[in-house]
Amino acid sequence: MATTPIQLNKTQQASQAARLAQVRPELATAYGVALGRWMGDRKLMLLGLPIVTQGYRSSAEQDAVFAQGRETPYQIHLLRKACGLDDVSAAEAKLIVTYKRGGQSNHNHLPSWALDVAHLQADGSVKWDNAALLLFARLMRAADERITWGADWDRDGQTVDEHFQDWPHFELVG
Ligand SMILES: [Zn+2]
Repeated sequence: MATTPIQLNKTQQASQAARLAQVRPELATAYGVALGRWMGDRKLMLLGLPIVTQGYRSSAEQDAVFAQGRETPYQIHLLRKACGLDDVSAAEAKLIVTYKRGGQSNHNHLPSWALDVAHLQADGSVKWDNAALLLFARLMRAADERITWGADWDRDGQTVDEHFQDWPHFELVG
């Protein structure tokens, strides 16, 4: 069975470059190395093409994300609209996705100390798959051992011992 390689269109390429330009250079470099290794592995590419879904996030955007799972959908809508973000789905509005308020997240620095990763699929959809993120995390840590993964905050190689697992999240602090 022939498979078409997943490729970013021009708009997606531009948005990836813009997000990475707002991330700490060492973190962006490590991401580039990990991405290159992933793309060079046909089996890994079957899981999708890694993309950065978030680099820098303003404090206002962070407050809007913090509101998910805590405020009404309408309040979330207003917070998102105020900082130019599209609405989240009703299901997403009910989910707590962060414990950090505006200014507290490592995404709120400029350049950002953190980036979030997902996998673009051949059909154009974006998937957050823990198993795929685990494999990507290994490449990120291999690229730069100072990187901390959000599903292994204590960096012991285990994900089950974490109180809060932020699977898409990678950060380089200090
Ligand atoms: Zn994150």
